Amino acid sequence: MIQEELIPYLVEMTGQSDKIGLVAHLVKTLHKFTAAQSVRFFDLHQKAVMETGLGKLQVESVLFEPLSPMNHDIPLDTIPGLGKIIRQTSHLTMPFMRFETEGGEQLVFALVEGSRIRSILYLDTLHPSTTDETTARMFWNMFINLERTIRAKDQDPLTGLLNRRSFDETISNILDCAFQSSEVNRMGGDGACLAVFDIDHFKRVNDTFGHAIGDEVLILFARQMERMFRVADILYRFGGEEFLVILLEVDAEKARAALERFRESIANHHFPQVKNVTVSIGFVMVNGKDFPPELIEKADKALYYSKEHGRNQVNSFDDLVRQGLLPELLHDTADEIEVWG
Ligand code: GH3
Ligand code: MG
Ligand code: MG
Repeated sequence: MIQEELIPYLVEMTGQSDKIGLVAHLVKTLHKFTAAQSVRFFDLHQKAVMETGLGKLQVESVLFEPLSPMNHDIPLDTIPGLGKIIRQTSHLTMPFMRFETEGGEQLVFALVEGSRIRSILYLDTLHPSTTDETTARMFWNMFINLERTIRAKDQDPLTGLLNRRSFDETISNILDCAFQSSEVNRMGGDGACLAVFDIDHFKRVNDTFGHAIGDEVLILFARQMERMFRVADILYRFGGEEFLVILLEVDAEKARAALERFRESIANHHFPQVKNVTVSIGFVMVNGKDFPPELIEKADKALYYSKEHGRNQVNSFDDLVRQGLLPELLHDTADEIEVWG
């Protein structure tokens, strides 16, 4: 028999329309209805393959707690027992573990995709009851179903990156939060950067090798983005062969360095059949004044400059303006009546 007071929480959960809201609701509900001292939700991000010894390769895994945006990468071993659990459960189809440590008992639920764990729900309790376990399991299963639906809506089907719809829906919030946290941490001077990417001469790739190979390049390009940028950076396929990233906690210098590293990694990457592909990039720092359409327009102008001046390069809108190479963008009232062409 399901407890009656759970019903409004189940109903509220089905009303969540984005992942963060859904995670927040799951954590809040399990705090309320179980004896857990702490309820934490992690995404597990598998970063680039790294060399761990002579001839040994290992995928570097980090935890990422989406509800506390300041904790970007949490090393696996900071949570007692979690690293071991993840390694032990990755082959199970319905991974659930209950284990004891000195501080009490832990309930761990894992969301597995293919052979990889994607997310972890971690309840730290003194003495979990059977009801606690049943309640957690019920909400977890519901979370998995709802998260799948939400993800499909926000994801670009070809590359798995976020899509344009997701950008339009969440960008104002993301930029507000990023700007506020950079104001709070003014000492460090870090902010956020919006960058747009456009693959060079992509039409030629399609014309020479066919659309399927073109698609493969797009997929490999997206994988390279995931490898090269940090876990908390936000990656979109904006349409066609155009991509957009929001880099968090960077100043202009760090942003340029990260984008240059990415540009170079694409230029050096061996794409099957096509071999060499290059990308042109334009970026602008988020300044708290410009709205998303203005930031995109500025980044696009810098991208266009890269295209015009030889492609395979990174340019900053602010620097180009400072050097007198691009005019400042002025949006006065007369400009507000825009003609979209
Ligand atoms: P530039 O260096 O100036 O950017 O040249 P370009 O050829 O990349 O630019 P253009 O915008 O003319 O061409 C983009 C091409 O991208 C045209 C279109 O056929 C191709 N394209 C758009 N979406 C997809 C897709 O989903 N898959 C594939 N394979 N090709 C796509
Ligand atoms: Mg294009
Ligand atoms: Mg292009």
